Order: sequence, then structure tokens, then C-alpha cells
Amino acid sequence: MTDRAAGAEQAMAGMAEAGVRVVALSWVDNAGVSRMKAVPLGRLPQLADHGVGMSPVFDTFLVDDSVARADGHGGPVGDLLLLPEMNRLTPLAAQPGWAWAPADRFSQDGAPYPGCHRSFVNRMVQGAADLGLRLLMGFETEWSVGPGRIGDGPAYGLSRLADSGAYLLDVVDALTAQGVEVLQVHPEYEPGQFEVSTAADGPLCAADTAVLVRHTVRTVSHAHGLQASFAPLTTASGIGNGGHLHLSLWRGEENLLHGGSGARGMTAEGEAFLAGVLRSLPALTAIGCPAPASYLRLAPSAWAGVYRCWGWENREAALRFVTGPADRASRCTNAELKCFDQAANPYLVVGSVIAAGLAGCEEALRLPEEYGDDPAHADTDDLERLGIERLPTSLDEAVGHLKGSAVLRKAMGDHLFGSVLAVRGAEDSLFAGRTRAETVEATRWRY
Ligand code: GLU
Ligand code: MG
Repeated sequence: MTDRAAGAEQAMAGMAEAGVRVVALSWVDNAGVSRMKAVPLGRLPQLADHGVGMSPVFDTFLVDDSVARADGHGGPVGDLLLLPEMNRLTPLAAQPGWAWAPADRFSQDGAPYPGCHRSFVNRMVQGAADLGLRLLMGFETEWSVGPGRIGDGPAYGLSRLADSGAYLLDVVDALTAQGVEVLQVHPEYEPGQFEVSTAADGPLCAADTAVLVRHTVRTVSHAHGLQASFAPLTTASGIGNGGHLHLSLWRGEENLLHGGSGARGMTAEGEAFLAGVLRSLPALTAIGCPAPASYLRLAPSAWAGVYRCWGWENREAALRFVTGPADRASRCTNAELKCFDQAANPYLVVGSVIAAGLAGCEEALRLPEEYGDDPAHADTDDLERLGIERLPTSLDEAVGHLKGSAVLRKAMGDHLFGSVLAVRGAEDSLFAGRTRAETVEATRWRY
């Protein structure tokens, strides 16, 4: 019996006791949409071993469920196996009777499928481990609710707790019951917008958690008569929903972003990792801001970090360096990538960021000078002198950088890289000529 099947046998009793009858197996496609198949609990041990059949066509699914045609990618022919990650099998607190597990994709011959996003993350994590490095990561989740919105009132307003308190309490309770450690929750800037942040974990767990958090928020919202949107923009004139990624780099118990003699107390390795990420940021934008709609959110002075620079606690830098309370800096110091949103496939995001950072370590890169202001208010000559530029302002521009990224191509491998490019190109064409309002309308309820 394989480890997965043994894990499933073991988990069965606990699941049955928790009242679980059906298990949803999820994956996220290259367009950033979470998709699923489900199996009755009793079939889990068998399926943990043999997998559930699924079509490779999902590699080229677009946000509107149309299918892009691309040579060697997707298509109606062939079949893959979806295998549940038993360590993450979780009864869904807000949907009694259901459990969830993220799934890996394998070829029918039992080899990991080259288009599998979770195995891409595993490869990158292993690449870091080979150098004695490990990463902690965590996503912030922002969302907006509608229709018949709750949470009207001032940005971060205590008054908004009056009508949204019971709702947020249910979100926190459900996440906690599912073993997700909630760090913070609050009403965000826009009326009807909220945010929850969860504890940092290994990169694969962080990406899995992002999927689970969104599904949980969606379900709790539904129970409150609301619909949750994680789209980059939910109204044409509003502030966006970010999907900021926090990360720190460790060697054993040593946080490499702290206690060194480099910039802001980073160690040479910590600085090199962040420098690698900063260098690849224009290409990473095509991964973390993957949709035409993403570029409607990326506005200056909206805390979305649209300039390629870094700065201590600078919320307008794409890479914000966060040290936290002085007496806990050795544990808490981390970096936050603010430009990303939740149209992004979180597995592609964490894997690509690790690849970019490790390339920085390999080349012992140094960070440029830090920037301590909102670049939108700076003189353009000054920005040019400092090498600070706007991140891509369109998907097409970002994809140009991605195509030129030898680091990301090599890390993903030709198959995954090709599928991602096929989907980006097809979505760019899909939304060509649409107005801002039409793009927002078409994507609002898709992520
Ligand atoms: N909503 C902002 C965004 O689109 C982020 C606000 C914040 O920094 O929390 O990224
Ligand atoms: Mg926020």
C-alpha cells in the first residue's frame, strides 16, 4: 500500500466521526480558477492510490471556461490522475458532510505530470533544501462581498463591525476549526471589502491554505446571503483586492533576513534572495498578476506596490521589507510582495518566487538602494537615476518579460511554461477591446 493509501485508511475513521461523506479534490488552473472533482469518503483509500481521472484539457481553460487551443497543451485527448494530498484532508467546517483536499496530478504511468503546479512547488522547495534553505510564506486574502452588501462605512471603520461582526466571526471560527491559524481580520478600505491574514507556513502549505481560505470565505458568505469576490477589481472605480505574499528565508532556525551585515540587517543570502525576486519582478508580474483584469488594479498610490523597488515598511514599494516589533525581529522579519492578486494561481506564485530568489542566491546578487517614499510622487529623473520603474502596466507587457525569463522557463520546465504562456496569450485576446467596466463585470465572480 502506498503512503497516500495508508494515510487515507488512517484518516477514514476520523473523517467518518466528523460526519464527512464526500471529499472535494481541488486544483487551480493556469488561469487562476480553483476547480474540483469529488468522491464519496468510502472510495478515498482506493483513490488515494489510483487517483481520479481528469482531462489535461484544464491546462488551457480560461477564466470564462472557454478553452484555448495550443499545440501540445490541453486538448480533449488523454487522461491524468488526480491524487489527494492526505496530509491536508480537512473537514469543511462551514459545509458539514464535506471534506477538502488539494490534489496532485500524475500521468497514467504514475509519473508526476509536468503541468502539475503542486509538484512544481515541491521541486522548488527541494531546490532550496539542497542549498540548506527553507522558506516560510503566507498570503493575505482580501475580498469584497455583494450583493446587498454589508460592511458599509469608513475604511477600517469600527462602525462596520456592527453589521459584519457576526459574518467575520463565522469566517474566523470556520478557519480555526479547519486548523488554519488566523493572524488578523478587518474591514478593508472599500465598503464591503474585508481581509484575513493567516500564519506563515511552508510554501506548498501556504498555497494550499490560500485555496482553503478562499473557499471557506465563499461558503460562509453564502450562508450569510452574500457572494464573495476575490477578483482584482470588483467595481470599475474601486480599490482592488490584493493577494500579497509574505516570505522569509531560513537556514535551520536562523532567519536570513535578520541579524546580518547587509541592507537593513539582512544576511548576504537573504539579501541575494530578495534581489533575485526584485530582478525577476516584471516577469513574475505575469504570474502574480495573470489576467487582463489584474492591470486594472495595479494603480499607483493604492498600496498595490506598482513600482519595482524595495523599502523598509514602504507600502508603495512592490517589495516591502517588514521587520515587526524590535524585540521579535529575529522571528518576524519578512518581505511582502504587494503587487500580486488572487487571479493568480498561488502554486505558480510561490514556486516562481522561490525560483527567482534562488537564482539571486546563486549569483550572490545585491539589492539596489532602498526607497523610502511613494514613487508616484517622485521626480521621474530621480526614479530613473535609482533604477526604479513601473511594473508592467498590461498583461501583454508582463508576458513579454515572462517569455524572456530564462530563470522561470527553466524552473517550470517547457511544458508548464508553455501552458502558462498559452493561457496568458488567449486571455489577452479574450479581453481585447473590452472596456474597464466590461472586464470587471466578466471577472467579478470567477476567482
Ligand atoms: N487593497 C490593496 C491591494 O489591492 C491592499 C491594501 C493593503 O495594503 O492592505 O493590494
Ligand atoms: Mg489589505
